[in-house]
This record gives sequence, structure tokens and C-alpha cells, in this order.
Amino acid sequence: MTDKTSAPAVTPVVDVLCVGAGFSGLYAAHQVAEKGWTFAGFEAAPDVGGTWFWNTYPGARCDVESIYYSYSFSEELQQEWTWSERFAPQAEILSYIRHVADRFDLRRHFSFNTRVVAATWLPGERCWEVALDSGETRRGRFLLAGSGGLSTPKDFDVPGLENFTGTTVSTSRWNIPLSELAGKRVAVIGTGSSAVQCIPLIAEVAEHLTVFQRTPNYVFPARNAPLSTDVVDEIKSNYAAIREECRHSLGGIPDRIPDAAAFDVSDEERRERYEKAYERSGFTGVGGEFSDLLTDARANETAAEFMREKIRQIVRDPATAAVLEPRFHPLGAKRSCFGTDYYETFNRPNVSVVSLRDERLDTMTADSIVTEARSYEVDAIVLAIGFDAFTGPLYALNVSTPESGRLQDAWSEGVRTYLGIMTAGFPNFFMIGGPQSPALASNVVVTIEQAVDWITELIGHGRAGGVEVIEPTAEAQDDWVTITEDTVNQTLYATTDSWYRGSNVTGKPTTFLGYVGGVGKYRRMCTHLAKQGYPGVEFDGTAVARRIGRIDEEIA
Ligand code: NAP
Repeated sequence: MTDKTSAPAVTPVVDVLCVGAGFSGLYAAHQVAEKGWTFAGFEAAPDVGGTWFWNTYPGARCDVESIYYSYSFSEELQQEWTWSERFAPQAEILSYIRHVADRFDLRRHFSFNTRVVAATWLPGERCWEVALDSGETRRGRFLLAGSGGLSTPKDFDVPGLENFTGTTVSTSRWNIPLSELAGKRVAVIGTGSSAVQCIPLIAEVAEHLTVFQRTPNYVFPARNAPLSTDVVDEIKSNYAAIREECRHSLGGIPDRIPDAAAFDVSDEERRERYEKAYERSGFTGVGGEFSDLLTDARANETAAEFMREKIRQIVRDPATAAVLEPRFHPLGAKRSCFGTDYYETFNRPNVSVVSLRDERLDTMTADSIVTEARSYEVDAIVLAIGFDAFTGPLYALNVSTPESGRLQDAWSEGVRTYLGIMTAGFPNFFMIGGPQSPALASNVVVTIEQAVDWITELIGHGRAGGVEVIEPTAEAQDDWVTITEDTVNQTLYATTDSWYRGSNVTGKPTTFLGYVGGVGKYRRMCTHLAKQGYPGVEFDGTAVARRIGRIDEEIA
């Protein structure tokens, strides 16, 4: 007879485990709870917010308009929340996320200050077991990664930072008041979106700011402004239609479909149109003015040169302007930046720029940054060097199965996914806004909502049939990889080194990390597959059809 008191405790299995309490995890918790399934979420931070919890550097704000960069799933929510500015600052976005968590009572689903350090598939039990940094484990039938695409900071890949004894702070883990940089000699390393936002504000307080720039990017004026009551009322009265437009768009914001190619119009008209687009700014600004700007290098060069002229007009010192002029990649092929007074900041007497293309960064000493040309004494270094995008946050989870090993081993030659949502060999594992999804080149909230809806429907479909194990076929995954590669190879994204392709991280295999055919088309493909009974997906080892083929051409 078994002594019940000494029987080993059976670990309860929840329906869904989820990593992260940012936009992805919170919406997943909401949808899973709506379905009546059990959910256990884990968040390393002490509260909700994800990237908006951590990225608190001066000037941090979203460069997708807040009226679009917000949840669409609840009409009540979008009616009761009012954005104050066109591009809300980080604190307001974080307040919004906290409001959503409170309003839908989502915090109860999460353990905070809790990091998932490993996730292991248990084939016998047909469930995932996650190991937490507390030493505890939890089990769940399905595992969702809502860990974000831009949440793992990139390591600084120049030796010598450890020698520096002054203040060091990273934009992605900002933890000092701006006043701590007041009156100091500050260096900012990097000139991507984060740097572009914080440089003008640091320049206002620093004794001297030296910007260390490796690759000059195209920085458009953000044209941020308060949202008037009239504009807000107008949006709220049309919100349902606006959201629908976003869901079926290219980038998750209302499309502005170009009506011409760059050389369809005269030089004069092209210039006039760029001027108007420059005033408009945003993702549908200069880079979206003509249909071929992201596919034809000659067409692109007309927009690129327009921007260089703007820089020469704004920046008074010709040598400084020349350093800031982007010449090493086509406009938009690397993520464009949107700033406020960015180029104007280089007219300040206390700001200078160092081109790391002309003098390589060699090392650091206790009080200096040393290039191959000279040494720059500084009191503080701001690292705005970016992220180990998409794969960094996933690999940190140490996801593994006995058959496939770790995810990072399965993807050692490059990322391979089915729709950017699942990957062969890792059953019941789902990525929200994962690599090879449209997350990279879209208003990510639109992509997140679509992914969570699709994933929960797929799980529901499986469970309705008594299925316990859901996994994509390797063949369908091959098809999706081909689709994502063929799509990007038609564009100039494919020609440029950037975090889009993993080339910002030393040793990372170069795979383009997104699907760039548009969120609308992607949604149509996903919906089509669901209606067909999910070709390319195995349910308890049985597939409806093993391939998805050129579904992108079928539903074009
Ligand atoms: P990023 O775009 O990857 O920029 C990193 C910068 O650091 C680049 O200029 C890069 O130069 C430089 N860098 C990296 N390693 C370096 C090294 N060892 N030495 C010298 N320079 C180095 O990173 P980010 O600015 O944090 O932005 C990442 C993404 O986050 C953005 O593209 C955007 O999608 C998102 N984001 C959005 C917002 C917003 O909505 N406003 C704000 C911030 C971030 P190279 O170009 O030569 O590699």
C-alpha cells in the first residue's frame, strides 16, 4: 500500500505558461483568461511594461503614433484612454500599460521579479517545465514567449569598458537621473533611434557631449505635438475603422500608398513632394513618398540626397555636417530614426561628433575613450549600442527539447520558423512577434494582437479535437523561410548590415529577422491557413498537409 503522505508532490500543469508582461504577455493573459484556460506568466521586472519598463532614457518615446501604438481589442479601453501627444513619452506609455493591467485585472496572472532561466519540453508528460531563478519550476501544456524582440541589450563589443571608472549607463537599462550628467563631459556611443532621442537632452545639461558615431543614419524630424481635443474626438469616433485599416496595412499604421515611382515625375516635382513629405515626417514621410524607394537603389538615392541636403542646411559647420551625412546605406534599409532637434544639436558649442569610420574605437582607460587617432577624456559614457534583437531574448530562455536540443543549437545556421510563430522540433512552443514575423517592420502592437489571436485559436482548435501536441512540419517551415527570404530579397533591406539581419552582434548568423510583406498580407495568409485546418501543422503527429508552398503568391 502506498503511503499517501510520502508520495512525491505532483507538479500541477497549467494550460499556458508565458514569459513577459509587456504588450505581448498582457494580451496573451487576457485572451487565455477569456477562453477559461489557466495561465502562469513570469516577468523579470517588478512590474508590467516590458520594453517600456526598462527603456527610461531621457527623451524615450515611441516613434509610431500612440493612437495606433496601443491595443485595439477593447472599444471601451480605446474610448476611455486619451493620449496627450502624437508620440507619447515612455512614462505615458508605461502608465497606459499599467492601466490596461489594472483594468483587465491581469497582474494576478504573473509572478514578478521572476526570471525564466530554462524551459524544457517533457515528452512523456507532454508539457513544458520552466525553471525560475528562484529555483522553483512550473509546468504548462503550452509555452508562449512574450519576451519581446528588442529586450536583450547588446554586449559592448569593444574591449576596455571595464577600465573606465566614471559613470557608465546604457539607454536600454537607464538607471540615473539626467541631472547626474549635468556639468559633465559625456560621451554617447551609437547613433540609432535611442541615441537620437537622448542626445539633444543630454546636450542641454552636459558640459560637453561627444557623440561617437559609427554609421550615420537618416534622422527625420519627429514633428511631435500635443493632440488637440478635436483630433482626439475625431479619432475616437472613427476608432473601429482606423484599427481595421491598421490591421490590413503594410506596417500596422494607415497606409499612404504611393501613386508614383521616383522617376515617374520630374526632378522639380520630386523635390516638392519630398519637401511636403519631410514636413509630414513619420514612416509615411520621405521614405514612403514613392513606390520604389525600398526596391530601387537609384530611386532611393534621390531621397537619400534630399536628406543629406537637409543636414547640410541645418548643420552650420560643414565638416560636422559631412560626418553626419548618411552615405553608407540606402535610406530606410536600416531602421530610420525620428528625432527632435537632432541635427540642430550639433550646432551647439558644447557638442561634437567623432566618426568612428575615420578613427576606430580602440579601448578605454579609467577616464578616456581611446580611438586610433587620439584619446577623449570623459566623465560619463552612455551606451546606445542597441540590442541582440529577436534571438537574444529567446536564447536567454534556454528553450530545449530532448530531441532537438536548445533553440540556439537548432538555429545555429540561422533562424527557421513557421510564420515567425512556431519552430519545428519545439512542440507547443509559440513566439509572439517572433523572428520572421512582421514584428520587425511594423507597429508591433498590431502584430502582437494578431499573433496572440491566431495562437489561441490554433490551441483552441487543437484542444477541441483532444490534441495535446502541436508542432509545425519541417517542410512548412522551409516554405516560410523561403517566403521571408524571397520577400526581403526584393528590397534594399537585404543589402544593408543592421540589427534587422543580426549583423550588429558579433558571430550572430545573418538571417533577416522579419517578414516584410506587410501585416495585412501576413494576416491574410495566417487566416487562410487557419481556415484550411492549419496546413503545415502537426496535431499529435498528424498533419493536414505538410507544406504551405507559395501561400504568399496564392493569396497575393
Ligand atoms: P541601434 O539602432 O541598433 O543603434 C545602435 C547604435 O550603436 C548604432 O549607431 C551602432 O552603429 C552603434 N554601435 C553598436 N555597437 C557599437 C560599437 N561597438 N562601437 C560603436 N558604435 C556601436 O539601437 P537602438 O538605438 O537602441 O535602437 C534599436 C531599435 O529599437 C530601433 O531600431 C527601433 O526599432 C527600436 N527603438 C525605437 C524607438 C522609438 O520608437 N522611438 C526608440 C529606441 C529604439 P552601427 O550602425 O554602425 O552598427
